[in-house]
Amino acid sequence: MIQIYGAGIAGSYLCELLHQNGFKARIYDVRKKPDCRCAWGIAYDEAKELYKRIGINLDEFILSKPKEVIINNKIVLKNRNVYIFDRKRLLEEVWSNLNFGDGRADIVVDATGHSRAILPKIENDSIYYTVQTVEKHDLDENIYIQMRRTGYAWAFPLGDRWHIGAGDKSYERAIELVEKLREVYGIEEREEECYCKGKIRMLPPSKCRPIVYRNIYGVGESIGCVSGGGEGNAPSLRCAYIFYECLSDEKLEEYEKRVLKEFWWIEVEHEFVRAVQEGRTFTALKLLPKVVSIESKRSIQQSVRDIKNLISLLRW
Ligand SMILES: Cc1cc2nc3c(=O)[nH]c(=O)nc-3n(C[C@H](O)[C@H](O)[C@H](O)COP(=O)(O)OP(=O)(O)OC[C@H]3O[C@@H](n4cnc5c(N)ncnc54)[C@H](O)[C@@H]3O)c2cc1C
Repeated sequence: MIQIYGAGIAGSYLCELLHQNGFKARIYDVRKKPDCRCAWGIAYDEAKELYKRIGINLDEFILSKPKEVIINNKIVLKNRNVYIFDRKRLLEEVWSNLNFGDGRADIVVDATGHSRAILPKIENDSIYYTVQTVEKHDLDENIYIQMRRTGYAWAFPLGDRWHIGAGDKSYERAIELVEKLREVYGIEEREEECYCKGKIRMLPPSKCRPIVYRNIYGVGESIGCVSGGGEGNAPSLRCAYIFYECLSDEKLEEYEKRVLKEFWWIEVEHEFVRAVQEGRTFTALKLLPKVVSIESKRSIQQSVRDIKNLISLLRW
């Protein structure tokens, strides 16, 4: 029996994948309903292919495909692969099939996201704080970003509504970023349909050890499967799939090594973000071509010049 803790994007996907492939798996979540969380953006190509393996058509959950990503109202990038999806509805669909429960097991999976409730705590963990709302606005269907060195605010189109939020080193700083976003793009405060606060782990897998502890295996954000820009949906699914493959091949002892190999690009991105935050320009410029190449393939079309211009704007 495999006991999974955390039925977020990684845990619920893993539980269903195991079930469909003949494994006995159970899942437990502290919530009674999926977390709406507001993580609406997803690296479409990768997520579509992964969800197909459990019979889910991601296209049925897509709300929009924004054309451009506008940063600090100065830099305009072409969106290649970031789609906005109804994450809550998709999770509800996956949850409807899951075997919920909590009990003895041979293998335990910690898929509890930033809480990392089962694995030992991480030394020098790095948690960022987020605030987010959903509001009605009439804007062109793009992604709007207001960035500074330590975080950014965003506005994502959800069809007829907008998801507005920010993440930074404290809630106060995140709120400040949202205010700046409103000012820069003229997005006035409207009555919110919902408002919540959240957290996100901003550390790459190599800094989230132990990844495996006794019979406990970390999957998803609990072990740092989140890009340098805070994109954790598709990487967490990919991580769950790697766990499933190791289990099926009876090679669980290779799991940590495979995670570290797969997410080399997350390591590069976090190193780049740290260098920018600490003003280590030489290191940042050295890593920049790699980061540009990674993100142009997986998310947003960009050039070294675009990102150099962006860095020069991050003064506050
Ligand atoms: C505000 C915000 C916006 C984001 N936007 C994006 C985005 O647009 N695109 C993107 O790709 N990523 C985004 N992310 C990151 C992304 O949401 C996460 O990286 C991703 O959800 C991680 O998946 P996971 O399954 O590992 O963890 P989660 O999805 O966080 O799931 C963890 C689950 O564990 C449960 N849990 C917690 N403690 C326990 C416990 N003790 N026992 C049992 N269950 C427990 C929780 O209830 C939850 O259901 C965003 C994050 C935040 C906070």
